[in-house]
Amino acid sequence: MWWRRWLPACLAWGCVAALCGSRGLCPAPNASRPEPGQCPRRGAAELCAWALSSDSLLDPFPVDVIQENYVRNVKNCIFSIVYPTPFKSRVRLVAVSEDVLENILDLDVSVKGLSDFLEFVSGAKVIFGSVPLAHRYGGHQFGSWAGQLGDGRAHLIGVYTNRHGERWELQLKGSGKTPYSRNGDGRAVLRSSVREFLCSEAMHYLGIPTSRAASLIVSDDDVWRDQFYNGNIKKERGAIVLRLAKSWFRIGSLEILTHSGELDLLRRLLDFIIQEHFPSIAMNDSNRYLEFFSTVVSETANLIAMWMSVGFAHGVCNTDNFSLLSITIDYGPFGFMDSYDPNFVPNTSDDERKYKIGNQASVGLFNLSKLLQALKPLLDPRQNQLASQILEGYGEYYYSRFTELFKTKLGLLGENENDNFLIAFLLKEFWALQDLGKHKLFSEWVTMYLLRLNSNKGDSDTKRRTRMTTVNPRYILRNWMAESAVQKANSNDFSEVQLLEQVLQHPFQRQEAAERAGYSLHPPAWAKHLKVSCSS
Ligand code: AMP
Ligand code: MG
Repeated sequence: MWWRRWLPACLAWGCVAALCGSRGLCPAPNASRPEPGQCPRRGAAELCAWALSSDSLLDPFPVDVIQENYVRNVKNCIFSIVYPTPFKSRVRLVAVSEDVLENILDLDVSVKGLSDFLEFVSGAKVIFGSVPLAHRYGGHQFGSWAGQLGDGRAHLIGVYTNRHGERWELQLKGSGKTPYSRNGDGRAVLRSSVREFLCSEAMHYLGIPTSRAASLIVSDDDVWRDQFYNGNIKKERGAIVLRLAKSWFRIGSLEILTHSGELDLLRRLLDFIIQEHFPSIAMNDSNRYLEFFSTVVSETANLIAMWMSVGFAHGVCNTDNFSLLSITIDYGPFGFMDSYDPNFVPNTSDDERKYKIGNQASVGLFNLSKLLQALKPLLDPRQNQLASQILEGYGEYYYSRFTELFKTKLGLLGENENDNFLIAFLLKEFWALQDLGKHKLFSEWVTMYLLRLNSNKGDSDTKRRTRMTTVNPRYILRNWMAESAVQKANSNDFSEVQLLEQVLQHPFQRQEAAERAGYSLHPPAWAKHLKVSCSS
């Protein structure tokens, strides 16, 4: 229904138009798209003629019938139409991912110098074709059903289909209140936004499925946060990350529909997700939901095994933070282990240590059981039984992926019945890798390892070394590195954010600038007691 999209856009236009400059980014909803020739410079030309579309998300589903922006319980829809709230103060560009701009968004990097670009990525201007949306979802948080959550501070500003035919959903995070903001202010502070920007890009370059980040801006608007929940409320600054994913749907996207008995919408959303993102599943296959479930089970196992292979703890493994595409999303109080410790908890707000790194695989299983619960009304008894069997296979699948990844890290080729033992032995004793050589069992382990290497067929030390250096990163985003970049950024020195963004693009390659910064060394003494909480 054409009016459904234009009406809110027209209503919002008054306030948005006031923020628009004379050129480009926010033509009236029915204006024609500017031609590149009408724009002055190269980057400008590309941005001027650049467009998003929200049609593919709006057309298939009923939209929230209420269009005023106030906090409420929302029913019978997948999205609410709601515009970002621009900052009142000046905004500055902290960093961009040139790779995302050029290779995903088809933009010349020179756009980053344009004021139009700054306004676009800070939510002050609406791109042609965009109808900003907030997604309604629920979730299980720390084991219990939490009811309606939703995009409380994020706006899905549209879909971009790039020159490779890839479809990317663009989201601003920290861009103001929505109907799902509950008690929140709709904002995100600079420290957590720096961490999300850097880590999502770093994970991509580590080869781990993840959302991406295009840009990070900071405002001078005050945002008040009690960082460690100890009554010490401090003034911070609001920031926005422009982040991208092929899809932002989560386990909680389906759960809320089942919980509120909206089964027709559940089926429609699921069919949409399968059609758009699971091309190997036939839409006329009566087992398609089962196949979907089976894929999410194996891909989630794969994702968590990959997290473990680089020592990444997500920190908040709630079902609302678990993607249906099995990519890493919603970076909050995550952390990389500085030395091996299965009890590592990155999030100081996680008192019960529920999401410690050693629990991630089993939490994945719990989350998938909640996904199955959400799908149950759509499965017949036979499919239900098969789905339970699929879920039972999760553990075995996870361990086979985990073993495969660690074998690669250790340079092992072929099969050997003792490989699991070799890996478990290495990890079991909580060996701090930095002190590996000093461990009482080290020589015993090395003897086993060397023996095992002898069974690598057609291998040599040089070949093995090359293989191992391409899978064992020299640089990861350790907490102290992110913290150092955040502290500088707090005083408007964005150089370390930018340096890290560059360095982490090549995590396996020795880089002079990174060595000078100490990124491959043990964490400095000041970083010993660094903490990260849920506050963001
Ligand atoms: P997170 O822990 O960031 O995954 O957020 C969990 C839920 O709380 C999501 O529904 C968020 O949109 C919401 N939320 C978190 N912070 C805020 C905030 N400052 N304002 C509004 N909603 C928020
Ligand atoms: Mg979240």
